[in-house]
Amino acid sequence: MEKYSLLQLAKHALSGHRHWPQAWRSPAPKASYDVVIIGGGGHGLATAYYLANQHGITNVAVLEKGWLGGGNTGRNTTVVRSNYFYPQSTLFFDHSLKLYEKLALELNYNVMLSQGGILTLGHSRHDMEMLERWSNSLQLQGVDAQMLTTEQIGARTPLLDTSPAARYPIWGGFIQHRGGVARHDAVAWGYARAADAKGVDIIQNCEVKGIRTSAKQVQGVETNCGYIRADKVAIAVAGHTSVLGAMAGLKLPIVSQPLQAMVSEPVKPCLDGVVLSGAVHTYVSQSDRGEILIGGGADRYMSYGQRGNLPIVEETLAATLHLFPHLSRLKLMRQWAGIVDISPDRSPVIGKTPIAGLYLSSGWGTGGFKAIPAGGETLAYTIAHDRCHELIEPFGLHRFVTGALIDEGAAAGVAH
Ligand SMILES: Cc1cc2nc3c(=O)[nH]c(=O)nc-3n(C[C@H](O)[C@H](O)[C@H](O)COP(=O)(O)OP(=O)(O)OC[C@H]3O[C@@H](n4cnc5c(N)ncnc54)[C@H](O)[C@@H]3O)c2cc1C
Repeated sequence: MEKYSLLQLAKHALSGHRHWPQAWRSPAPKASYDVVIIGGGGHGLATAYYLANQHGITNVAVLEKGWLGGGNTGRNTTVVRSNYFYPQSTLFFDHSLKLYEKLALELNYNVMLSQGGILTLGHSRHDMEMLERWSNSLQLQGVDAQMLTTEQIGARTPLLDTSPAARYPIWGGFIQHRGGVARHDAVAWGYARAADAKGVDIIQNCEVKGIRTSAKQVQGVETNCGYIRADKVAIAVAGHTSVLGAMAGLKLPIVSQPLQAMVSEPVKPCLDGVVLSGAVHTYVSQSDRGEILIGGGADRYMSYGQRGNLPIVEETLAATLHLFPHLSRLKLMRQWAGIVDISPDRSPVIGKTPIAGLYLSSGWGTGGFKAIPAGGETLAYTIAHDRCHELIEPFGLHRFVTGALIDEGAAAGVAH
């Protein structure tokens, strides 16, 4: 892979980027592939990369109806962490965090991982008991978690109002030091570039309109670029999962809801890591550009309108100012939304489907950015062997039949 010196970068900038080589090709789709992946978000691209890199399967196409990362991957608040509650989730998400920790080297692309910690606040005796139970559970599973007193929190994050007179006084909290943020576009671009270099065809502006099956075996996909044959097809389309599932005759336990985020004007560095309160209902970090990045809960209705509604913005900002009164004079610069795919137990739905050769990467809901490396790696394994990877075995569709749900509502609450 070509490397650039600062001099070359400056040369390209001054020449108006005229000779700047493309980071990935834009090939015309072939008539058939070994594997077609629908959706050019982080999960689709990572799956393609691991198929090529770990299993030598390179005759792969990623079909994206818009532009790479234009879905939730490019719209999220970039929190990465593994502080879930149940062992199935912790194992999976901690594996993902470990992959993130070496992703820049793996992809030869700076994904700007910043492990400034994720601090979860408690505001009552009950909150504190729950946080202690949670952090004990994590420690027992070998995942880092540390309880903090109000004083320790005040010393670490002076911008927070830790006074007893605060509207929601802070009783303490727990921190996962390895949590933090990564650059969302860079994750998509890094996987895209690395997958392309291995021979994967990434085809943008190619919308899948139908999935052909015969005798419960997938045959291929109908697209606005023509019919593409494939014995193996993976659906990785986040908020459009039920639409794509229906094309193959599947009724999936997933609903689509808008989820919003917003940023302030940029200010000097004033906040380390991510601060979150489930009770007050907001989470806040500061981007590398200096913007204060704020997220809250999903909108309370199902919709494919990628906009979000004003009451949630007001609610989330009010919650933020209860915790950080000093931010009240900042101007809000932008607000946006994505459409997230939410399952009944707030856990992913990933793996095989009742249709042979059709695979799912879905149900990532409000928290699938952190899952991209592990989601891609385990789905690639599942596709390559047509056998579920052990890390995602608990997250299959079968749990909605057996009732073995993995209720991560609390750990996924305040959508991050
Ligand atoms: C505001 C917001 C904040 C979030 N914050 C966090 C966070 O802090 N941490 C975290 O871990 N997660 C977070 N998430 C969730 C996270 O962004 C998603 O779970 C994750 O990006 C899902 O990745 P994906 O690749 O499955 O989906 P996407 O990135 O949405 O990619 C799916 C792609 O499929 C394409 N597509 C859809 N239909 C078709 C079709 N018919 N044919 C071809 N292509 C199609 C779409 O255009 C899209 O590009 C947040 C999400 C939002 C919206």
